[in-house]
Amino acid sequence: MSEISVKLKEVLFRFHSAVKSSKILHGPIPKMIAASKTKPVEDIIEAYKCGQRDFGENYIKELLEKAFNQTILNDCKEIKWHFIGHLQKNKVNKLISVPNLYMIQTIHSQALASQVNNALSKLSTKMSGDNKLKILIQVNTSGEQEKNGLDPDKVSPLVKFIMAECLNLQFKGLMTIGMLDASQHGHTIDNPNPDFLTLIKCREDVSRECGLKIEDMELSMGMSQDFEHAIEMGATYVRIGTIIFGERNYSLMVNES
Ligand SMILES: *Cc1c(COP(=O)(O)O)cnc(C)c1O
Repeated sequence: MSEISVKLKEVLFRFHSAVKSSKILHGPIPKMIAASKTKPVEDIIEAYKCGQRDFGENYIKELLEKAFNQTILNDCKEIKWHFIGHLQKNKVNKLISVPNLYMIQTIHSQALASQVNNALSKLSTKMSGDNKLKILIQVNTSGEQEKNGLDPDKVSPLVKFIMAECLNLQFKGLMTIGMLDASQHGHTIDNPNPDFLTLIKCREDVSRECGLKIEDMELSMGMSQDFEHAIEMGATYVRIGTIIFGERNYSLMVNES
């Protein structure tokens, strides 16, 4: 067995154990996204062969190369690409051209939502029902200035805007990256990660203010260092890179723009 399949099985075992012992019953069932940025196509194919279907990418150029790779197109037909990086408006057209694009997790403004919605209107394949593009709103849960994401009190207005004006988009829930060093602080259910608490509260507010059911909204939070804690807090998507694929080497990366 390859190293990636061994690691993936270990992580899946931990993931399923965490899901089993989680006492939080509302919300969609938790799912694991393999965060594959900087990692080669071969690693993705390897994980796919072991049953992994959801993959997260951060950079448009890299995602395009991987999604249009001939082996991926031929052999990984059920792949689901999640965009989890910072999205600039001038990259939206490229992003929506990605085959098997499943979800954009990083919508953070009305302007960006409109841009994606309008770009989808121009596609020949009409968007409707299950064909709508699923999106999450990225929430700035840490209050750090430089972080991307919307302040929690601005999320409900954006949800209302998307539901009323963006007919090609399907609002599916909320995502946070959070403070990176908080994930190293060994949070537990008795001493929870404050970013997770903020995201949970934000979902409650959206539920009340927009008339949506909590169990219809995803919470994407938790990474390699803290995904078990995220699951015990009610995460429905965890995004895991390093402990599946190994440390990243950014110097090997193609330049973005
Ligand atoms: C890279 C990345 C991850 C995965 O991080 P690891 O610590 O390697 O598990 C998760 N979410 C986002 C948004 C990322 O950019």
